[in-house]
Amino acid sequence: MGTTIKHSWAEPFKIKMVEPVFITTEEHRRKALKEAGFNTFLLHSDDVYIDLLTDSGTSAMSDRQWAGIMLGDEAYAGSKNFYHLEEAIQTYYGYKHVVPTHQGRGAEHILSQIMIKQGDIIPGNMYFTTTKLHQELAGGTFVDIIIDEAHDPGSSHPFKGNVNLQKLEDLIKKHGAAKIPYVSIATTVNMAGGQPISMENLKALRALTQTYGIKIIHDMTRVAENAFMIQQKEEGYQHKTVAEITKELCQLTDGATMSAKKDAMVNIGGFLAINDPDIYDEARNMVVIYEGLHTYGGMAGRDMEALAIGIKESVQDDHIRARVGQVHYLGNKLLEAGIPIVNPVGTHGIFIDAKQFLPHIPQDQFPAQALAGALYLDSGVRAMERGVVSAGRNKTTGQHNYPKLELVRLTIPRRVYTQAHMDVVAESVACIYSKRNQIKGLTMTYEPKYLRFFQARFKEV
Ligand SMILES: *Cc1c(COP(=O)(O)O)cnc(C)c1O
Repeated sequence: MGTTIKHSWAEPFKIKMVEPVFITTEEHRRKALKEAGFNTFLLHSDDVYIDLLTDSGTSAMSDRQWAGIMLGDEAYAGSKNFYHLEEAIQTYYGYKHVVPTHQGRGAEHILSQIMIKQGDIIPGNMYFTTTKLHQELAGGTFVDIIIDEAHDPGSSHPFKGNVNLQKLEDLIKKHGAAKIPYVSIATTVNMAGGQPISMENLKALRALTQTYGIKIIHDMTRVAENAFMIQQKEEGYQHKTVAEITKELCQLTDGATMSAKKDAMVNIGGFLAINDPDIYDEARNMVVIYEGLHTYGGMAGRDMEALAIGIKESVQDDHIRARVGQVHYLGNKLLEAGIPIVNPVGTHGIFIDAKQFLPHIPQDQFPAQALAGALYLDSGVRAMERGVVSAGRNKTTGQHNYPKLELVRLTIPRRVYTQAHMDVVAESVACIYSKRNQIKGLTMTYEPKYLRFFQARFKEV
């Protein structure tokens, strides 16, 4: 099981089927970008050469997973695929009860509505867009308790996903434990650059929350990647398998929301997993209103089967070593080219520091959004903004939130692209870096009310 390979991180698979992608002209891309309002989310994927918008739902399924698709039991109630999924979650993650949902945010919605009351405080290791919004829609307020190093792209702290326990204690003293239904903990923190939390920190958090009777809810979207980083970097974990570490992480928490479109390598799906039987009961009641019956929750039987298989594949040492290895390969290429990126390289993508890349563009002219546009224009590589556009507006003042991190995310889908694709990406980033002075800031011409980064439109200033 454990990896014995002494050499580089080559993929533990070979390619059986290919999907052609097309290289477009600069003129074509210029027109496409303008039509998309300088928002890479609004590009047609046909116009994209290498798609690093997200690692969500974009992974390549294995032959086993495709075979699982053929075993779909599409019974409305009690599909056998649900029981396979439930068993996989119990086996690999150790949670007791499972409610499937159409994707991660479906689980976040149900959990937030059940656990959060008006005026509650939800501390977390940095926010995630949909997670925070569902907490707010349920009447709660998210408070960031991640360590300060997480907000510093230059800091090389190995576990930037760690919680500052003092910040949590101060919050408990200020508001009282009764106002804090749970602490929201992500394994690998997406918005910090795919940074892991250490087992030591999670254990200490567990001890602290237990003394106050506060639960921990785990955003386990990329838990296997976090487990791999613990295996690589944390004292005492070198001889444990990623599967063992994954389960240990889960068992320090009371429940989880999962976007299965990431770690678990399916194109759609998610679930809520919970140990408390009463919360499970309520979740089963709610899922029928918003998602579907509690044995499918918005997923087809075949998708649940592919997910059950994907969960098992996701915690194999050789798989995760190649997955993270490819991300680090690209990261090292960019570092060699002198590109300012978030340090240390995370697990699912490379985050370019747009403030440093484009110091001539003020943050209210959306430097990361402008940089993502420039990259697309150069090579047809599609990236995503993670900065002031994603951070939205302050609930009370209506002003933009100005996050310290103004990033462009190059997210690597699992098992999809080759090393040669990574070379093209690195060359293109280096190319626009050499002419970065020509990149212009943007103004927003259309702003949606919720999660504005998905559909906002811009023009050059
Ligand atoms: C993607 C993601 C979610 C939301 O999941 P969806 O499946 O996109 O609804 C929640 N948390 C994190 C950390 C994510 O990356």
